[in-house]
Amino acid sequence: MTKLLYIIPLIMGGILFSQSKTTAKPRTDHAGQFKKISDEILLNSNAYDNLRELVKGIGPRFSSTPAYDKAVAWAERKFAENGGENIRKEDVKVPIWRRGRESVQMKTGNGSWKTIPALALGGSEGTGGKDLTGEVLFAKDLAEFNKLQNRDVKDKIVFFNFAFDQTVINPAETYLVAGKYRWSAPSAASRKGAKAVITRSPTSAFDDVPHTGSMYYDPLDKNKIPALSIGALSADKLEELAKKEKVMLKINTTSGTTGDMINHNVIAEIPGKKSKSVIVVGAHLDSWDISEGAHDNGAGVVQVLEVLRVFKKLDYQNNHTIRFVLFANEENGVSGGETYAANVKKSGERHIFAIESDAGGYSPRGISLDMIPQRRRLVFAWKPLFLPYGVYDFTQETSGQDIAPLKKLAVPLAELVPDMQRYFDIHHTSLDTFDKVNRRELNLGAVAIAQMVYMVDQNW
Ligand SMILES: [Zn+2]
Repeated sequence: MTKLLYIIPLIMGGILFSQSKTTAKPRTDHAGQFKKISDEILLNSNAYDNLRELVKGIGPRFSSTPAYDKAVAWAERKFAENGGENIRKEDVKVPIWRRGRESVQMKTGNGSWKTIPALALGGSEGTGGKDLTGEVLFAKDLAEFNKLQNRDVKDKIVFFNFAFDQTVINPAETYLVAGKYRWSAPSAASRKGAKAVITRSPTSAFDDVPHTGSMYYDPLDKNKIPALSIGALSADKLEELAKKEKVMLKINTTSGTTGDMINHNVIAEIPGKKSKSVIVVGAHLDSWDISEGAHDNGAGVVQVLEVLRVFKKLDYQNNHTIRFVLFANEENGVSGGETYAANVKKSGERHIFAIESDAGGYSPRGISLDMIPQRRRLVFAWKPLFLPYGVYDFTQETSGQDIAPLKKLAVPLAELVPDMQRYFDIHHTSLDTFDKVNRRELNLGAVAIAQMVYMVDQNW
């Protein structure tokens, strides 16, 4: 009896085992598919030509401007050309902000006014075209500034010279620290009665190019003071002077916000063959007003188009719906990303993954993973497939701004991590132009995104 009971499961197990052996699907050749994706993109990519069309043909495409609408029409056409289905636009409310003209001049003692290259920060109110003159109050950082009394700050022009930490190897990390001055300084200075605020541009370069970027007014601010940024060399000069003598600044700007309007996210899909769950591949279509936005984020836009093209060209039979989203208004509000996530929440549509490219069109080095540890470990197991393509860094845990609002819906997020050593030299400046993008590096980024999307589609 005991023996028989022992033998029956063994026989059954044997039958089950041999059955599962004969009916099992052959193991999918992921490495072979990786190579197909890579070969197709490296041989036949349209990404570089598309980038030229977008950033040279249309140029700066700041949200709320007619150029942004041109970019939308261009993107719809490109999605159609590359075989995208269900092409549509999604309404997004964006602020109407205009830079107008801006000037910053500096003087010491009885000297004459000298012009400093400067850019108003996005969203900043201006001086109404009148001269605003005041004494410079230099503050090294916010901690030092917060110790000052209101009477020390009142009617001054506060100047923060918080520099990039050159010793940090990943410039994105130091950007997060230095970049927060752009965001926090205006309200901090306004609360203590300052007239205006000037910040050092968050850059790894040693030049005098001003970088713009978005800023923020606390709703409780009594005065929305003008906020501008200056280049690294001017910032160091200004600090040096302000430490030893009285320095006056004269600011004259006409920037300001006049309400809001509707812009559009542009969306296309390859419908899933087995499931309606969605994988998002995204980038932002808008750029700063003073920039071609070739790396930020023209590169991301054309990589998204290229991922669509390669899947259609290879006739890839995707399980899940792969959705390509070009977001509006990332640069000065992220309302494109917020609106997309709000609509996903409303529809209850299941999203299993979102990946963004918004860190420049440089050689890919990795993919950041903003997701729970269990899921991150699943991706770690795919590393050997990516290694031959130079993609090895899966340690970062951030994601892009446009897809970040999906985090509230527990969607696993990722972002392409290119080599960013040169990115912050040109980020948000007039120097972010087509000639700074290398065709091959741009294509390798598209390869990595397509391979990642393929793996998620196959395995999740
Ligand atoms: Zn960007």
